[in-house]
Amino acid sequence: MITRFAPSPTGPLHLGHAYSAILAHDMARKAGGRFLLRIEDIDQSRARPHWEDQIYDDLRWLGLSWDGPVLRQSERLNIYREVLDILWQRDLLFACSCTRRDIEAAISAPQEGVSYGPDGLIYPRTCRESGARKPGQILPDAALRLNMARAAQDIAFEEICELHRGTHRISRTDLIAKVGDVVLARRDMGTSYHLAVVLDDAAQGITHVTRGADLFEATQIHVLLQKTLELPTPAYCHHDLIRDGNGKRLAKRDDARAIAKYRADGASPDDIRRMVGLHPSSW
Ligand code: GLU
Repeated sequence: MITRFAPSPTGPLHLGHAYSAILAHDMARKAGGRFLLRIEDIDQSRARPHWEDQIYDDLRWLGLSWDGPVLRQSERLNIYREVLDILWQRDLLFACSCTRRDIEAAISAPQEGVSYGPDGLIYPRTCRESGARKPGQILPDAALRLNMARAAQDIAFEEICELHRGTHRISRTDLIAKVGDVVLARRDMGTSYHLAVVLDDAAQGITHVTRGADLFEATQIHVLLQKTLELPTPAYCHHDLIRDGNGKRLAKRDDARAIAKYRADGASPDDIRRMVGLHPSSW
């Protein structure tokens, strides 16, 4: 078993992160497997070195040790680019320089119904036919979207944790209708969370992905990309989100629930485990 924790260094780790990290760590340790760490820092406009340092510090304080070197996404941009080139050659991508406003305007045209997919508004296919197509002609200022009509196939994945336990099957038709032409390379990053997470989970040999239930809907995109790129599909565990007293899910900006804050207030790592409902550590 190989599990991972994959935080973005864009703010302090909070209780929700601690929950993900402890779960993935304990799962691997119990099974005699490996627990890996990945820093998801492709959004260079938001990633900061001091948040990355704080992640290492908080994890060590929680008593979580990771195996092998840390994988940093910012060092893998060439790999993401190579795979985008392959998908482009396979005619599975198109370039799109629509702004968010263009997309909203196209969707609010009277004949179109507004619907939401895992990435927000479902893209109305505006550029699919008109986008630049020839290899080598990827527009530098354009996003690259997956041509879902060409890429979609029936997929399935196994969910091993309580909230969504079971086999999930998603049909080709549903991927086209309910997910649509998702962005695989944002114009400002040259990649996307979806593409990077799939390539990195495969590169790190992850067998069990443990993360918050907010990413459950995105998993169908990841599984489709795995199938398209002939990569293995791991088992998934989407755990419940830690919420505040008002039932609101914790965001990274919620400094009030930052691990660092609890540390400063004198909490112990076992107090954090208890707060997120996981048993005190025996490691
Ligand atoms: N980097 C994501 C986050 O900060 C997690 C991605 C994942 O676990 O797949 O929440």
